[in-house]
Amino acid sequence: MESALTARDRVGVQDFVLLENYNSEAAFIENLRRRFRENLVYTYIGSVLVSVNPYKELEIYSKQQMERYRGVSFYEISPHIYALSDNTYRAMRTERKDQCILISGESGAGKTEASKKILLYYAVTCPANDHMAALGDRLLQSNPVLEAFGNAKTLRNDNSSRFGKYMDVQFDFRGAPVGGHILNYLLEKSRVVHQNHGERNFHIFYQLLEGGDDDLLHRLDLDRNPQNYKYLVKGNCPRVSSISDKNNWKTVMKALSVIGFSDEEVQKLLNIIASVLHLGNTHFGEGEEGETHITTETQIRNLEKLLGVDGSALREALTHKKLTAKGEEMISPLNFEQAMSARDALAKAMYGRTFTWLVEKINQSLALKVNSKGSSVIGLLDIYGFEVLQHNSFEQFCINYCNEKLQQLFIELTLRSEQEEYETEGIAWETVKYFDNKIICDLIEEKHKGIISILDEECLRPGETCDISFLEKLEGTLGGHPHFVTHKLANGKTRRVMSREEFRLLHYAGEVNYNVNGFMDKNNDLLNRNLKEVMCQSDNQILNHCFRREEVIDQKRPEMAATQFKNSLMKLMEILMSKEPSYVRCIKPNDAKQPGRFDEVLVRHQVKYLGLMENLRVRRAGFAYRRRFEAFLQRYKPLCPDTWPNWHGKLADGVSTLVNHLGYKAEEYKLGRSKIFIRFPKTLFTTEDALEAK
Ligand code: ADP
Ligand code: MG
Repeated sequence: MESALTARDRVGVQDFVLLENYNSEAAFIENLRRRFRENLVYTYIGSVLVSVNPYKELEIYSKQQMERYRGVSFYEISPHIYALSDNTYRAMRTERKDQCILISGESGAGKTEASKKILLYYAVTCPANDHMAALGDRLLQSNPVLEAFGNAKTLRNDNSSRFGKYMDVQFDFRGAPVGGHILNYLLEKSRVVHQNHGERNFHIFYQLLEGGDDDLLHRLDLDRNPQNYKYLVKGNCPRVSSISDKNNWKTVMKALSVIGFSDEEVQKLLNIIASVLHLGNTHFGEGEEGETHITTETQIRNLEKLLGVDGSALREALTHKKLTAKGEEMISPLNFEQAMSARDALAKAMYGRTFTWLVEKINQSLALKVNSKGSSVIGLLDIYGFEVLQHNSFEQFCINYCNEKLQQLFIELTLRSEQEEYETEGIAWETVKYFDNKIICDLIEEKHKGIISILDEECLRPGETCDISFLEKLEGTLGGHPHFVTHKLANGKTRRVMSREEFRLLHYAGEVNYNVNGFMDKNNDLLNRNLKEVMCQSDNQILNHCFRREEVIDQKRPEMAATQFKNSLMKLMEILMSKEPSYVRCIKPNDAKQPGRFDEVLVRHQVKYLGLMENLRVRRAGFAYRRRFEAFLQRYKPLCPDTWPNWHGKLADGVSTLVNHLGYKAEEYKLGRSKIFIRFPKTLFTTEDALEAK
């Protein structure tokens, strides 16, 4: 049989640590390409799994395949997401330590598919009880629901997750899944009111229009054509060939009921979704004096009916602003522009908070019903990868900040686990040089001095503030920082001319220019108080839950968007730090979403953004390969008649005899307490070739 190691010329190496020249990016990419050509989409860097999206269904995810990977160790069989799932599960079981799997990669690289495959693996292979059969279902069914409300068609991915997700799966002492919990991050709310060309709003809107039955649409006062809704026409892309909104609607409705949403809750939920569409079709007129009024009465009546709010209060709140000055309440009219943006703010708030409610409901359904002793957890993180677009804004800033944090965690944990292994094996630690990106994290998040603090300060400062004054403040405070550049400081020095509205961060993964336009608004994320009041009075229980009276009474300003995000990331880091991590790094092979195409430039970018070369360098710094004594002896003892057929002494002595016989030089290997460490791949290949020749 052709071994995975000896077939390396054709299919490449299955672990990048075996590359002869581990510093060569070209060799790295060539290895990926060879494997991709052979439909081998998985490759390891040590214990990290690199995955390339095949953009076609491969026959490698069946139940039989799951069985093949059960209880098998990494090296014995070709790399697979199931191998990683299984190893993580076994580590949790045997070491009794919580685990987490961190999945990263750019949009469309296959993160969400990977997380679904991991969940499916556990749902199918783990022991079950009556209790759990239902739980496994609910775990799996949470996906279509979250995707309907949180995913959208973008240019990069027809089913792009527009929020970050961390999911805990809890297992009982017998290893059966018994509970789950989801944390969601930074839903892209701006999509509710605006979509770029070729993109869509969240799936649920189209599913409702396409799949809802006539009675339902009649009740919601909706017609079937998405083009009739202002919030759905911006991208001019109502239909997507790869998506069946009608079928997905059925799936989502069924999933909602499996998870345990009552009919009434589903109704209220759809009332809100329909209301967002009606809100989008609410228009304003401008009077002689510049005052604004509503020109679309039908929409207001629909909102009144569907949300159970007072129509005249809503009318007033959409066109006026309530202010408190010197303890007195004042009503001031909004101009046309302000009224439009108040309306959009309401739509975003309604949708965003409803999404959060949805996650809470799912969590209630997945919550541990019995207090399960000795339970442990596997966490799954499916979160946006490093993003560099033509035009980068507040969202990219947050996303890339998140990736800096994850990179920091990665460095810390990888180095920690390498160091720990060296210690347990009693091998001298060799220092690895690496770039510590803490300096960039500090630049963004440091109290008082970091970009987020400065942004908050500028948002709170009374008087004339704007995005440009924020930029000037950044320049004043951070000018001279080695990772921060602006127009004034940059031009003449760098290749790309920067505009006066941009600042540039030198991220660990590369340079990104951010346009400050909209930063203040997005960070403020304000909703006029009188609109909140109207929502509080709604008789829709979901809205009641989402808009609390206290929020209106309490005049304290809520945390701003970036700070909220920062705090939720801090919590996430704590959660992840307390667990044993595994990594899946996803790569998108081409922008056309097509099978069989490997765009080298695109892949090279991702290898860089994912920090894979650095990853490999750290992994290879000491030794390319390590293997437990038993496994090593088992495989190679036929090469040494002295230890053949059976070795009876100590394992370490057996390995020692074996490598002496094979002529390993002292600098080529080291023996730890339970493992042999081999410094160069060549040594191992020579041994493999000898085995092949026998
Ligand atoms: P991401 O979450 O990273 O943005 P997705 O997981 O949504 O990306 O994947 C995008 C698309 O790529 C999927 O809808 C699917 O069509 C395809 N895809 C991803 N992973 C696989 C896979 N392992 N096998 C087949 N197709 C895949
Ligand atoms: Mg996704």
